[in-house]
Amino acid sequence: MESKGLLQSKGLYEYLLETSVYPREPEPLKELRNATANHPWAMMSTAPDAGQLMALLLKLVNAKKTIEIGVFTGYSLLLTALSLPEDGKITAIDLNRESFEIGLPIIRKAGVEHKINFIESAALPILDQLLEVPENEGAFDFAFVDADKVNYLNYHERLLKLLRVGGMVVYDNTLWGGTVAEPDESLVPERQRVSRHYTIELNKSLAADSRIQIAHVPVGDGITICTRLS
Ligand code: SAM
Ligand code: CA
Repeated sequence: MESKGLLQSKGLYEYLLETSVYPREPEPLKELRNATANHPWAMMSTAPDAGQLMALLLKLVNAKKTIEIGVFTGYSLLLTALSLPEDGKITAIDLNRESFEIGLPIIRKAGVEHKINFIESAALPILDQLLEVPENEGAFDFAFVDADKVNYLNYHERLLKLLRVGGMVVYDNTLWGGTVAEPDESLVPERQRVSRHYTIELNKSLAADSRIQIAHVPVGDGITICTRLS
């Protein structure tokens, strides 16, 4: 497997995965990871070590109702579904259903499909639709955002209304392969520049946002964990 971690030594990252992550990774998640391994965009799926932390966070907030933006083949979606109680519900949004179909048989076999409401759409209009229903305000416990970086701050404003106080939103790829710390943009591969720019803006904005408590954690490709304070 290609290294996704930001740790300087590949060996250390492998040690972490082999020692603490893979032995505890539920069988269906392993299966989904393997089913995605040969996909041309396999790099997009959530890093297993970030996934392990997310599963722990879901338990800590007693998540029952969640939102996922950016499903791809469903690694983070399946781990969320496995972490929620039987009557838990995930609103899962992705522009593209085709990749979700790759993971769906494994999700079915794991017996958690009933927790998932998959919506094939751009995420922003769906969040706006949710907000048109007053009962949805403060009704969600958890959100995971792993999609178009350009919209993260737009998602943030809407998610802060949808989450309950004490609820949590996790943003993925907030260290963008380490490029956020590169002062000379010309040294950053061109295809990474736009998302790098939006990630830098997101990081500044989250750090200055008094409505949330944050932890910016160098796990996977960097995740920022935010809880709604008020
Ligand atoms: N969380 C996934 C996993 O664990 O495998 C990986 C998600 S992948 C990095 C990003 C996904 O976001 C892609 O499947 C893409 O179709 C979706 N996406 C991109 N822009 C989007 C948008 N505006 N609204 C909804 N989904 C979007
Ligand atoms: Ca990601």
